[in-house]
Amino acid sequence: MDIAIIGSNMVDLISYIDKMPKEGETLEAPDFEIGCGGKGANQAVAAAKLGSKVMMVTKVGDDLFADNTIQNLKNFGIDTEFTNKVPGTSSGVAPIFVDPESRNRILIIKGANKHLSPDDVDRAAEKLKKCSLIVLQLEIPLPTIYRAIEFGNENGIPVILNPAPASKELDFEYVCKCDFFIPNESELETLTEMPVENEEQIQTAALTLVEKGVKNVIVTMGSRGVMWVTKDHIQTVSSHNVDAIDTTGAGDAFIGCFSHYFVQDGDVLQAMKMATAFAALSVTKRGTQTSYPTLEQTESFTK
Ligand code: ADP
Repeated sequence: MDIAIIGSNMVDLISYIDKMPKEGETLEAPDFEIGCGGKGANQAVAAAKLGSKVMMVTKVGDDLFADNTIQNLKNFGIDTEFTNKVPGTSSGVAPIFVDPESRNRILIIKGANKHLSPDDVDRAAEKLKKCSLIVLQLEIPLPTIYRAIEFGNENGIPVILNPAPASKELDFEYVCKCDFFIPNESELETLTEMPVENEEQIQTAALTLVEKGVKNVIVTMGSRGVMWVTKDHIQTVSSHNVDAIDTTGAGDAFIGCFSHYFVQDGDVLQAMKMATAFAALSVTKRGTQTSYPTLEQTESFTK
């Protein structure tokens, strides 16, 4: 195993609507799609598509979405031994309403993801010990995240924490135990309560985290690229200039690809460069997991 993703999976239920119904009103909408998502699953798929051996520790419900979610992970070659069903619970779902101007309204029902517990991390211990990297996001309970960070530290396995969606309850004592902390601009703004309008402000905000003891802060800045900040150096990688059609899941694309390249040889800058290319390619296509490019496409784009 190369990478363990301990995190969420969701089923995106996307309704393409002409307009939102009012209270008590029933309207017909032109189109509907089901997609596999959730930050954990997206990151797992991104890394697996590039060829990493990925295991996913996650929970699905006991509804009709569960088998589909497990099958989707398997189709990408992801190890699902610790992808378990929770009886009497729904899978995580995200009803999404997209209007003709491509504006989104999204609800998230975490469902089974809320049941991923610290014990689930310990149950997967033997297999997790064989991984070279643990990757975490914030769509599962915080105690589970803290246990996974401790587990990584106890076993000498580097940990990446993507604080998405941002939570003010996140305990910085644990963040400092992670090797990489990868927020986007708005998550950085929420967590530091500092402005992030330009690169100078982003750098200042990231440095406050480094001063608190966070080892490596990598801020994804959308079309502006990424900034890596440590206590003794700051480095920026620019984004590629592409026609962005749908930026959903770009952050997950970045983290999945960064993880894939980082476990190869530990070269952080090279992993950032490859992840910037991978994420740029992903925004040129509709969808989340379906927009992620292959290894060949990513490597030929960077030549
Ligand atoms: P999130 O999806 O979490 O909001 P970002 O918007 O920061 O994350 O995107 C993650 C990465 O995806 C960026 O650092 C960048 O490399 C790439 N990216 C995002 N939007 C674009 C864009 N419009 N053009 C090129 N690359 C992009």
